[in-house]
Amino acid sequence: MNFNLTTTLREPTELAARGLAAVRDLPDLEKVAARYAVAVTPEMAALIDPDDPDDPIARQFIPSAEELVREPGENPDPIGDHAYSPVSGIVHRYPDRVLFKLVHVCAVYCRFCFRREMVGPGKGSALSQGAYANALAYIRAHSEIWEVILTGGDPLTLSPRRLAEIMADLAAIGHVRIIRIHTRIPVVDPARISAEMIAALKVRGATTWVALHANHARELTDAARAACAGIVDAGIPMVSQSVLLRGVNDNASALEALMRAFVECRIKPYYLHHGDLAPGTSHLRTTLEHGQELMRNLRGRVSGLCQPEYVLDIPGGHGKSPVGPNYLSHENSFPQQRERHSETRYRIADYCGDVHLYPPQP
Ligand code: SF4
Repeated sequence: MNFNLTTTLREPTELAARGLAAVRDLPDLEKVAARYAVAVTPEMAALIDPDDPDDPIARQFIPSAEELVREPGENPDPIGDHAYSPVSGIVHRYPDRVLFKLVHVCAVYCRFCFRREMVGPGKGSALSQGAYANALAYIRAHSEIWEVILTGGDPLTLSPRRLAEIMADLAAIGHVRIIRIHTRIPVVDPARISAEMIAALKVRGATTWVALHANHARELTDAARAACAGIVDAGIPMVSQSVLLRGVNDNASALEALMRAFVECRIKPYYLHHGDLAPGTSHLRTTLEHGQELMRNLRGRVSGLCQPEYVLDIPGGHGKSPVGPNYLSHENSFPQQRERHSETRYRIADYCGDVHLYPPQP
């Protein structure tokens, strides 16, 4: 790259001035930016090869006219947050855990974001004091809530001081045992992972986990790896979440490199999300069959440590389900004989795709 950025790029004209977008595309990109927030941090801009029209980092952050295309089934609330939001800032979909959405801003705006209609400047900045108190009261009143997941928006855009206050408020609720923080900050703005920020992540009375969102191995730069090492060295376990994205990581080599990079950073691969039906994102989604094929491929290439779970968030708020390939079936799959499965042998596929028989339990 032939320029050194110190500030985040937020306007299509700024992207064009730095060769990260074509001037002829500006009218369309202005329309996209009027609807969906744009932000590319210096760290992510530095990773983009402006001469590569298929650059996998650019595809994640540089807006595209394709975002103006809305396909049937796409929905502003693709995973049904609203239907499960009892009070502002809380999504209570599963009995033992809630999402706690503290902020509506991120350091970058991912072009595939499933909350793209809810995040960005102008969509609110942080929960008001009153809404925050109501959300805490809700968590306090529901003793079944074992885990609170800070998401948003990116919770690590908060100051360390404010984050420490929030962590202390949550840890003071006896039944909250786990606080999980979903963030892209260690990758897209690693300098924010200061000693103060790491100290704020640790709290007496609850266990913190950090889930890092990254989609391509190149995002794990030396600075990002150092930021993650700081978190893990402080005794905070990390897991990963990635989105399967066409033109970014939808081939076996890219996925393998990404999962290996996570494990090298002591981050356990956790979720590989199938792309959600967010408006204007169809150009970034793959088919479920392709995702399954990639997962089969991954199993043959890398150790179990490097295996994420391939999941789909069922539209409407019905939660996540694993959609990875199924390796187990019955030898006899004729419908009239299914009820006699207990008498038939299993067929189990190995990582090469070869099928083997396994006896039923006598
Ligand atoms: S960091 Fe997360 S919430 Fe923010 S734009 Fe990217 S995917 Fe969406």
